[in-house]
Amino acid sequence: MNKTTKSIIKIVIALFVFVISFNTRSFGAHCENIVVVIDPGHGGDSLGGNYEDRIERDINLITAFAMRDRLEQYDGVDVYVTRENNTDKEMTRKERFDFAKKVNADFLFSIHYNMSEYHTLFGSEVWIPSKGNNYVLGYQFATIEMKALTELGLFDRGIKNKLDKNKSGEYYGILKYSEEYDIPAVIIEHCHLDEERDSAFWNEEAYKRFGVTDADCVAKFFKLSSQSLGIDNSTFENIAVSKPTGRADRDYTDPEYCDITVDDAGEQATNVTVHVKAADWDNYIQYYQYSVDGGNTFSRLEAWDDRSSEEQIFDLDKTQGYDMDIIVRTLNKYDLYTQSESVHVAGLPLPEIEEDITESESVPDRQYDTVEIKTNKEKSSEKDFPPIYVFLVTLIVLFITFNILFAVSVSRKKKRKRRKKAVKKPVDDEFDLDILE
Ligand SMILES: [Zn+2]
Repeated sequence: MNKTTKSIIKIVIALFVFVISFNTRSFGAHCENIVVVIDPGHGGDSLGGNYEDRIERDINLITAFAMRDRLEQYDGVDVYVTRENNTDKEMTRKERFDFAKKVNADFLFSIHYNMSEYHTLFGSEVWIPSKGNNYVLGYQFATIEMKALTELGLFDRGIKNKLDKNKSGEYYGILKYSEEYDIPAVIIEHCHLDEERDSAFWNEEAYKRFGVTDADCVAKFFKLSSQSLGIDNSTFENIAVSKPTGRADRDYTDPEYCDITVDDAGEQATNVTVHVKAADWDNYIQYYQYSVDGGNTFSRLEAWDDRSSEEQIFDLDKTQGYDMDIIVRTLNKYDLYTQSESVHVAGLPLPEIEEDITESESVPDRQYDTVEIKTNKEKSSEKDFPPIYVFLVTLIVLFITFNILFAVSVSRKKKRKRRKKAVKKPVDDEFDLDILE
């Protein structure tokens, strides 16, 4: 072999090695098994969401095991779970990633269930890293996962990310370590454990079905197929996601505007139609709620029908004798809200009052008249003789009486003493006498 042939062979070998090593690193066409770490959140004393008889720590484990069992039926994947029971001390987030690093994980999936402060929110969401390739991979997986969860009947609360208060790093510990260890990760919040509209998923069967769903989504993402399940994902394509410059960040601003107009067909109409116009130009409107008492209390959250639309229409029933002050709140993807101005709508008139009652002029025909009459009564009784005045006058009378009695008794005593002293010795000083007594 001459020198040229040798160097051509060397170049060909080098190219071959390069192509092989490139392929093993990409998720699409792999030679080694994909390593998946499933991380059931919480554990030990950390219960996570805890509502009625539902404890997130325990539910996470049911879902995680179902996910592992399903994923192990796919070819070309090794599956690990970070914790096997609920009684052990809670693993720190670092320990979870130390584990993932040790097994050479390609991805960590953090399994969770959700709860909200006022038990008002419902639906699923996926939290993803904010930076670099992990953002791209997180977003691609979350797209598959959110589609599957909404197909199960859950409300889509979106794919989200959140930075710490200095905006210099991740807010969620799991995603912080994902960045530090350079292992892609996502947090899957399957459903809420405290809002009735997610209640169809509060049973062991559903917790397991979530695990199966998660596994099928992971398989799609990694193009894993299963001979035993008869699933071929080899042609599946992840969506194109562009890498953010710097860090992707969440929306911190309330929806841009929220205006309402109310159609009232008149005094006899039994309901009104509320037209809501609202928008959040950074993301979208996902819930709305209304108040009929000027904002003191609000309805439960309702899904905004069409996220690409700036309009929502709904009806409200009128009540006899009660006026409405209608206010609507619209909430964006991050549950921040903007509230409309109040619109006044008169209530339905009360039914005709029977004759024997109408004879008495004082019977009110409207709710607010009743309130006024009560107030006037209170005011007039205040003018007549409020109890505080009685008390003060009694006090003054008692005070004067006591003073008169005291003065009389003192002057009598002095007279008596003066009589006694006049017998013993001459009176020198009245003041001294008083002290000696
Ligand atoms: Zn949790």
